[in-house]
Amino acid sequence: MVIDLRSDTVTVPDQRMLDVMRSAEVGDDVYGEDPTVNRLQEAAAEISGKAAALFVSSGTMGNLIGILVSAGRGQEVICDSLSHVFSFEAAGAAVVGGIQLRPIDTPRGVMNPAQVLDAVRDRRDPHQPVTAAVSIENTHNQHGGVAWTEAEMAAVAAAAHSAGLRVHLDGARIFNAALAVGCSVADLTRHADTIQFCLSKGLAAPVGSVICGSEEDIAQARRWRKMLGGGMRQAGSLAAAGLLALEELVDRLAEDHANARLLAEGLAAIDGIAIDLSRVQTNIVRFELEGISGAEFRAECRRQGLLGGGAGHRMRFVTHRGIDATDIRRALEIVSGVMRSAARGSTPRSSLATPS
Ligand SMILES: *Cc1c(COP(=O)(O)O)cnc(C)c1O
Repeated sequence: MVIDLRSDTVTVPDQRMLDVMRSAEVGDDVYGEDPTVNRLQEAAAEISGKAAALFVSSGTMGNLIGILVSAGRGQEVICDSLSHVFSFEAAGAAVVGGIQLRPIDTPRGVMNPAQVLDAVRDRRDPHQPVTAAVSIENTHNQHGGVAWTEAEMAAVAAAAHSAGLRVHLDGARIFNAALAVGCSVADLTRHADTIQFCLSKGLAAPVGSVICGSEEDIAQARRWRKMLGGGMRQAGSLAAAGLLALEELVDRLAEDHANARLLAEGLAAIDGIAIDLSRVQTNIVRFELEGISGAEFRAECRRQGLLGGGAGHRMRFVTHRGIDATDIRRALEIVSGVMRSAARGSTPRSSLATPS
């Protein structure tokens, strides 16, 4: 059995989820006639405290649409320099929207209000792009799953709104954030104008995200989704999995957090691993390696049935519905064996051909 900690996107639907998908009532969603998609959108709007919501194919599409709704050609959107929108979304805002992202460095992925105000351009100066919006990420993936508190969200959003900016929230893992800081999802999302969250990460559905906002924003979002090729027809079979996730799989995120904690504390006790435990608030565990390259580490773990992600000497493990505490203990045994061999200089190099 492989222990796959590369991402929380690797879960596969269980029998119950497949049954719900198979028996979903469907219709043509481009006509707005898929009852299951409509139910999912109503549920998402309610959870996020917004007037409307739209089912989209991925978090990347949800973020792109959120940015397209909030900014136009030649305008700028402030984000942080390790944000997913800046790092991993193929420059969609620039390509599709003619929108420039303005990355700023943040200590833990959490911006402060002064930083946002400092980054706002002078509107009277024709040299400069017009700042239209700020995009924030909660939980913050590349900073190790750090969760913004409601007060942090409120402060940044208030600053942005006072400067006439809109706020988009990349809430790919907003349910993890709410659990970590002990508030409702709506407490966090109410500060943003648009928010996208993923059904296919910790919530364990196979496909999809939802973007939520005002009626006007979502009407515009619907046109962008159509343009991007995201208008799906009998999408209810997919939405059914998302609905089930919202109804039944939110509470179990606590297990993922507990498993991540167990993993992080175990890793912290292993020589050659540097980890900041204060950032392990949700289901993401990031750490750095000393004495072994990331490529070697990943390859040796893979050979022993443990898959992880990351780049260079930085590693990422993510817990999810397919992982239990036994897997975590086994993962720790594997990692500690790999690190011991590396320290003895006895990593079996012949076995390192597998690409990570
Ligand atoms: C995964 C992720 C996305 C994108 O979601 P996809 O469904 O993979 O396109 C956006 N933002 C963050 C923070 C993510 O972790």
